[in-house]
This record gives sequence, structure tokens and C-alpha cells, in this order.
Amino acid sequence: MIGFVAAVLIFLASLGFNIVPIVFLIGLSIALLFMMERRTTVTGGTKSAAVKHAIDFAQIGGQDTAKRELMEALDFLKRREKIQALGIRPLKGILLTGPPGTGKTLMAKAAATYTDSAFVSASGSEFVEMYVGVGAQRVRELFKKARMLAKKEGKDSAIVFIDEIDVVGGRRGAQSHQEYDQTLNQLLTEMDGMQTTQSPFVLVVAATNRVDILDSALLRPGRFDRMIKVDLPDREGRLHILSIQTGNKPLSSDVNLEHVAQETYGFSGAQLESLTNEAAIMALREEKERIEQQHFRDAVDKVLMGEKTGRIPNREELRRVAIHELGHAIISELVRPNSVSHITIAPRGNALGFVRQIPEKDSYLYTIDQLNNQIKVALGGTIAEQLLYGNRSTGAQNDFQQASNLARTEVECGLSRIGIVDADNLPQTILDEEIRFILSEREKETKELLEPFAEGIRELAQSIVQHENMTGDEFRNWLQKQLGMSEDMEFTTAETAAKHAIDDNGESQPIAV
Ligand code: ADP
Ligand code: MG
Ligand code: ZN
Repeated sequence: MIGFVAAVLIFLASLGFNIVPIVFLIGLSIALLFMMERRTTVTGGTKSAAVKHAIDFAQIGGQDTAKRELMEALDFLKRREKIQALGIRPLKGILLTGPPGTGKTLMAKAAATYTDSAFVSASGSEFVEMYVGVGAQRVRELFKKARMLAKKEGKDSAIVFIDEIDVVGGRRGAQSHQEYDQTLNQLLTEMDGMQTTQSPFVLVVAATNRVDILDSALLRPGRFDRMIKVDLPDREGRLHILSIQTGNKPLSSDVNLEHVAQETYGFSGAQLESLTNEAAIMALREEKERIEQQHFRDAVDKVLMGEKTGRIPNREELRRVAIHELGHAIISELVRPNSVSHITIAPRGNALGFVRQIPEKDSYLYTIDQLNNQIKVALGGTIAEQLLYGNRSTGAQNDFQQASNLARTEVECGLSRIGIVDADNLPQTILDEEIRFILSEREKETKELLEPFAEGIRELAQSIVQHENMTGDEFRNWLQKQLGMSEDMEFTTAETAAKHAIDDNGESQPIAV
């Protein structure tokens, strides 16, 4: 055909016709065809990538409960004949809920491997188009595609994975958007039509981090009747994920993944993956054969705080930042020994410097002492500035925000001097007054804690300005000496350690200027 068209065109040209507009039109229609092709493959041409590099449950770290629940649910699919014989309603949908990056997509893929099903996936946002009806059409295509793929691969079941289901599955009629409604209705229709007797059998696995906004029709029996929570990993889980993610990477013998897991409270699986990758990149930059502990440390900083910035503060600013950070670090170590991971004054993200604290262990409850201690740590920076310069700077905005949030938590949880309150009906003026009271009390205490160290801070800041970094251990050595020197201090670190052994719990956020 192409040859024929070309021949005709050349013939016309030789007769003296102007063929430029015709060539242009042909080009345009080819481009249009190509684009349409692509559009239909957005949902249809789904990634059957699972087949190429199959993911199984062993590659998912932590999430023991979620994995167990999911496998239990999937056993329904595996034992379909038995289920049918007993007249049990087939399981049609599984909803995975949890924060981003916790492995929901991985779980869906592992589910396909586990049940030996074909796997197709789409994201909720792909269904939402400007044109009414397109979304519903795509849902139909997706299910058709799943059945076809299963047949092609010779499998008798398929898993349709729908990511971000909240985009289409938000409450119908709430904002009354016809397109969303039609898409959701189509999805419900597809699910209602699925029967155990059908071959291939289709199971829908959906993921969302906004289960609160889902239309209740989706959660009814016969639809997504299994809801599985995929939460942020705990310390064990993080260790497991880290060991999976470093499986293909050469680690130096000094690497202690347990330590890394401890320092990464609140990280998702995706962040941990990114962390191991960053650590490897840092090793590459230094032309090292193996990844070292220090690379992991820097990578944690990078994932938490962002890339190092090119901003170079002047020397006087650097000194102030060093003093400020030492204030945080000293308080942190006094209220909770061994809590300082490291101190740095290399600007990163929005921070000019920061102290990273090691969370003792993952904790879900905080006592009043822990909250108060953390407020003192947050205020330590600005108070150190006050002590050594006699004035404060704008660098403590974040610290104050953090301190106020902690104080608000105290008030709202009934831990303040006004006792139990109804947080919803607490007048703003009273809340403000209590927060101010808490902060000013903590400020006084922080000042008392820091005063004996003024001279020491002055000297140490000088050395931090030179070296940019200080490890927690170096810092503790220094602090030990300081404590030994000042006789007027009524406690030693050992005593402090004992005193605080009970409330040695972790907190999550790194402290930044
Ligand atoms: P979600 O779908 O919950 O947003 P994903 O499954 O897409 O998260 O995870 C993104 C990436 O993060 C994965 O490709 C994997 O590299 C990593 N990851 C997340 N959770 C885990 C986990 N539990 N175990 C191992 N790797 C994980
Ligand atoms: Mg995902
Ligand atoms: Zn600070």
C-alpha cells in the first residue's frame, strides 16, 4: 500500500501537481492513528511485567500480618472447587489500604504469582478523562484484557490490580461528577458479574491510602469484602526490607543494618529502597568497591532532608549554626543518653544544619515526660544562641513549630495543668495560653540545663565549623569530659541514664534548624 501511494505521488509530481498538501495530510493521519493506538493501550496495554520478573511474597519485607491475611484470602482462589462445592460466595475483591510506598503494588503482584494468575494493572487516575463514558469503557477493556491475557498464558485466573481506587471510588454523588459515577458503576457491574464458575476467574485487588473517602457501595459484601491494612514497617520490618534491598549490593563489613533500621523510624519500604540506592550511589562517587556505614548515614540524611544545597553560609553564620545544633544535641543527650546519631552543619534541603536523633524504639504512646523532654530538645538550639550571642536568630522557626505542636498535644491529651479537656470545644485563647505556659516553663528548664556548657559549646563549635560533621560517639566523648569537669553539676551521665531509663522511648522526627 505504502509503495502504491508513493508511486501515485511521484507520478502526480512528475505531471506537475503540487503534492505537498497531500503528503502533509497523510503524515497527519498516521500521527493520529498512532496516538489513538496509544490511548487505547493505556489501560488495555497493561503491564504484564509480572510475568517477566515475577514478584513473590519472599521479596516483600515486614508486613507479616498483611501477607498472612492476603495469603489466607488467596487460598479461597486456589481452592475454588471446594469453595464452590460448599456454596461459599466467591471472594471478588481485596482492598489494600495504607500509606504510599509500603508495598501494596508489590503485594498485588505477589498475589498473582502465588495464585498463578495473569496480572493486569491500571491506576484510578487513568480512568478519569474529560469525556463522559471513557472511564467506563476503560474499565470494561481492563477486565476483557485480564480474561484474554489469562487465556493466552494458559491460566485459569486473573488478577486485576487497580491502584489509587479512591480516584474513581470516592463517594458517588458527593461532588456529583457524572464521569466518576459511570466509571465506578461500571466497576461494580463487572464485579457483580463475576462468578466462580467463570473461567478464567477474575479477582480484583485495589489499593488506596484514602479508605475514608471510599463509596460504601465498594465495601459491601460481594465487592471488596476483604480489607487488608498495609502499614509503615516497624523496626523488624525495616530490617527485613533493608536486607532484601541490599541483597544485590556489596556491603562493607562495618555495615550494621540493624542500626540503619533503628534510625529510620517512619520510613516506608519505598524510602528504604531509595535509601539503599542512595548509599550505593555515594559509594560509587567515592570510587569505593563496597558500601560503608557512613554511606548509609549520609543517605538517611538525604532521604530525610533532601539533597545537599549549594548554599554556603558565611563563617559567622556557620558558627551560629554549630552553636545552635550543639544546643539541641546537648539537651538530647542529657534527657536521653545515646540519642544523638550525628551533628552536621552541611546545609541540606531547607535546613542549615541538623542533629539527627536515634529513636530508641518504635513507640506509639508518649508520656508527659517524653513530650516535655522533646520540647526541651527543640528549644535547645535557640537557647544556645541566646547564651553565647545574647540574641536569637530566625533559624529556629521549625523548632518552635515542633515545640508548639508537642505542647498542643500535651494540652489536647489532658496532660497539661488544666487537666482533661474536650479538644474540639477548647477555646482558642485557653489553648494558646496553655501552650505558652508550657513553652515558657520548658524554656527556663532548658536554659538551666545548658548554662554550665556555655564555654564548652564555644570551643566545640569552632571545631565543628572546621569539620562540618561530628558523630554521636565523638560528641558523647566530649560531653563526658564536660560533665567530668564541672563539679557543680549534680549528676553524671550514668546517673542520668538510670534516671531516664524508663522514659527512654523513641521519637521520630529529626531536629533541623
Ligand atoms: P505502594 O504501592 O504501597 O505505594 P509499592 O509496592 O509501589 O508501594 O512500593 C514501591 C517500591 O518500594 C517497591 O518497588 C519496592 O522497591 C519498595 N518497597 C515497598 N515496600 C516494600 C517491602 N515491604 N519490601 C520490600 N520492598 C518494598
Ligand atoms: Mg503503588
Ligand atoms: Zn534548630
